[in-house]
Amino acid sequence: MEIACLDLEGVLVPEIWINFAQRTGIDELKATTRDIPDYDVLMRQRLRILEQHGLGLPDIQRVIDAMGPLPGAREFLDWLRERFQVVILSDTFYEFAAPLMRQLGHPTLLCHRLSVDDSGRVVDYHIRQQDPKRQSVKAFHGLNYRVIAAGDSYNDTGMLDEADSGILFRPPQNVIDEFPQYPVARDYDEFRAAFRQASERDIPA
Ligand SMILES: [Mg+2]
Repeated sequence: MEIACLDLEGVLVPEIWINFAQRTGIDELKATTRDIPDYDVLMRQRLRILEQHGLGLPDIQRVIDAMGPLPGAREFLDWLRERFQVVILSDTFYEFAAPLMRQLGHPTLLCHRLSVDDSGRVVDYHIRQQDPKRQSVKAFHGLNYRVIAAGDSYNDTGMLDEADSGILFRPPQNVIDEFPQYPVARDYDEFRAAFRQASERDIPA
């Protein structure tokens, strides 16, 4: 039995924080773990900035809804779900991902969650577990699934390493250089071909 594990941001949808910063014009929200390596410090800063700008969850979700998935992502995901059991493993939060998941037909998503008060203010965040992508692949192995994993960035390399087959989708050059063992797909047609190649079964085109 096979299961396909997909990263979300950069694979099916835009990078949520970067795109949110661009759409709202709030430059401080462009900071990533490259600028602030301590994730907790980064997230507390993001929540503080959202509050300073008076942005509650409904406002945030409206902006995210307007981003939409990447062009061709829905069609690719529908193709994949007809051929594999698919689980999306992401470091985003359910509340942020919700508008995009609706546009993707509500695939299964394992990620983190937020605490939101009655006024819509985002007051806290909760990480489901440490190293969640790798741990999820391990768990699927415990259920006797063979895992094909695909992602675009450093936070995916743990799940790619743990998986039986790994695929990189539109990764930055430094990730390609550092992880030459994985095939690289540059568009959704190549991505479909890479999944067919990675499978032990005969997957129809
Ligand atoms: Mg990504």
